[in-house]
Amino acid sequence: MKFAQNRLYIESYSKCQNCGILLYERPANSSADLTILKDGKTYCSAWCIAWEDERAKRHEAAAQARQA
Ligand SMILES: [Zn+2]
Repeated sequence: MKFAQNRLYIESYSKCQNCGILLYERPANSSADLTILKDGKTYCSAWCIAWEDERAKRHEAAAQARQA
């Protein structure tokens, strides 16, 4: 992607660890709440963090059920 304003290409970007949406590296002066960092991973929203937490709990419960 190319920005017309500064003619720089984005070379660093990441994806939301949950839904995989692209999270472009935000300018230093932009709002800090566009993305959320948790445990060193970047998420697009608090919703995705909660969703991944729920998924981890489901997997844990399923693993325990198999052992029982
Ligand atoms: Zn997300």
